Amino acid sequence: MRDVLLVRYGEVFLKGANRPHFLKVLTDNIKRAVKPLGGRVWLSDSRVYVSDFTDLAATVDRVSKVFGVYSVSPAVETEKDIDVIAAEAVNLMKGYSGTFKVQGKRSDKKFPMNSMEIAAEIGHQVLEANPALKVDVHKPQHKLMVEIRDNAYLCVEEIMAVGGMPMGTGGKAALLLSGGIDSPVAGYQLMKRGVRMCAIHFQSPPYTGELAKDKVLQLAKKLAFYSGGMRVYLVPFTKCQLEIHEKCPDELGTLITRRFMMRIAQRIAKDFGALALITGESLGQVASQTMEALCCTDAVVDMPVFRPLIGLDKTEIMEIANRIDTYETSILPYEDCCTVFTPRHPVTKPKLDTMPKVESRLDVDALVEEAVQGTEMVIVEP
Ligand code: ATP
Ligand code: MG
Repeated sequence: MRDVLLVRYGEVFLKGANRPHFLKVLTDNIKRAVKPLGGRVWLSDSRVYVSDFTDLAATVDRVSKVFGVYSVSPAVETEKDIDVIAAEAVNLMKGYSGTFKVQGKRSDKKFPMNSMEIAAEIGHQVLEANPALKVDVHKPQHKLMVEIRDNAYLCVEEIMAVGGMPMGTGGKAALLLSGGIDSPVAGYQLMKRGVRMCAIHFQSPPYTGELAKDKVLQLAKKLAFYSGGMRVYLVPFTKCQLEIHEKCPDELGTLITRRFMMRIAQRIAKDFGALALITGESLGQVASQTMEALCCTDAVVDMPVFRPLIGLDKTEIMEIANRIDTYETSILPYEDCCTVFTPRHPVTKPKLDTMPKVESRLDVDALVEEAVQGTEMVIVEP
């Protein structure tokens, strides 16, 4: 008998011929997650297992944050002998009271009892040993799961995990990461689908300071937890912003700024090997996020722009930010490059064909090139 952590995976199940690849990535990611705590991780018969851990609670916490993991259960592993299993079941259910049921699952068809018979026998023995329990097969308070695989596994608790797809199986993208609430959440949402990403941050010294940069690096660090490290590209953006401010109509300032961000981001993204850009925009949140404005922003890039928050309200975004622990950092009060030059009356229904005319007052290519050349890259560890 020994204690193990039983790890169930979710959507990876749906993968046909690619399933072995997804499972290998998932298992490797779980290994990486538990490495600081010690513990052995292996994949066997539709489950991943962790054994030899020193701190169960910390192991549960880390494994349940690995994308692709559906749920985890602290479990007992025993030999496949019904008496041994029953004794462990009795032991496991000792402290419980109320209603329960046993759910048997026989994956090893050579085991002499079927799932129903296992459940009936174990249920009977548990009831005899613990009079505080009653059987309720429909809505039990506790469910004792008994699985017969390469060994027998018993567990009562099931802790829900993050779900999603294993990190690294969803391709590469570049996240435009501001210091705000939205963009870290947007990054998280696509990381959850297995996307590996770099972050691109635009800074405008001296209008934005070291503290604003540190805040972004802190946010990147929180995201890096899920990927095991993250590149952050810091783009010098002051010159673009000053030129736009000086030469373009005030009401178009934000939009033209956003078009510059996209152009520069696409250059960096391609260098990184990314196939898409990610932003934290949500439809109608501000003037630059109306449908018309988003069309103007997208028009300058040929990569797809993913906006995972497009249909979420601010309160919904804040809920996720709280859950992934980026909220408190995001609300630290440092200036973002966008807030520095915010126009007083930005257009909300810009016309796409006026953009090139207005931008012809600027040397777009040179400004983009200079920003790309001046970009500094830092690697943020989790
Ligand atoms: P956030 O809360 O993430 O800052 P926001 O609601 O403040 O978003 P905007 O400032 O209009 O909205 O920015 C929209 C998106 O543009 C952000 O979600 C982010 O993806 C990107 N963005 C804005 N400012 C920057 C910046 N300084 N560096 C990198 N990306 C940025
Ligand atoms: Mg912002």
